Amino acid sequence: MTRALVPGSFDPVTNGHLDIIGRAATLFEDVIVAVAHNASKTPLFTIEERVEMLVEVCSPWPNVSIGTFDGLLVHFALEKGVTVIVRGLRAVSDFEYELQMALMNRRLSDKVETVFLMTGAEHSYLSSSIVKEIARLGGSVEGLVPNCVEQRLQQKVTDARDRR
Ligand code: ADP
Repeated sequence: MTRALVPGSFDPVTNGHLDIIGRAATLFEDVIVAVAHNASKTPLFTIEERVEMLVEVCSPWPNVSIGTFDGLLVHFALEKGVTVIVRGLRAVSDFEYELQMALMNRRLSDKVETVFLMTGAEHSYLSSSIVKEIARLGGSVEGLVPNCVEQRLQQKVTDARDRR
């Protein structure tokens, strides 16, 4: 059995992430979506909120579970018996950073392989950052994120406006 890890910030999960998670779920017997605590970024959603949204939208895949990690990804992978890290590639601009991460992770452990899945063309321009920016500026994110995420984004924007 091959256990794969799909790591990321998922702040929040988008339809692009789901495309990659779904592809991973058909390729591997067991998939863990791992949400990074990532102290260097200030997230819009708390880790609990990001996990809640992922649990809801990944429920159609019985072989997908959600976890969180702090610290080195390869340590988490080894702890969980994971042998494959899955990353999504959108454009050439993703490549340099992803290559650096993959090579560094291989240096840290040769027991974990990184594989890259190409996103569907319709998601190639999609990122959590752009979705947050559109929502903040009052635009529609329909079709870019799952419905439950859309509602939570709207709530965050309303809460932020009320605080001003
Ligand atoms: P990170 O902060 O680690 O980049 P993200 O949540 O931004 O985390 O992304 C997690 C993974 O999902 C990465 O492999 C990223 O390349 C991939 N990803 C993000 N958006 C898309 C998309 N629109 N299509 C395909 N893969 C994506």
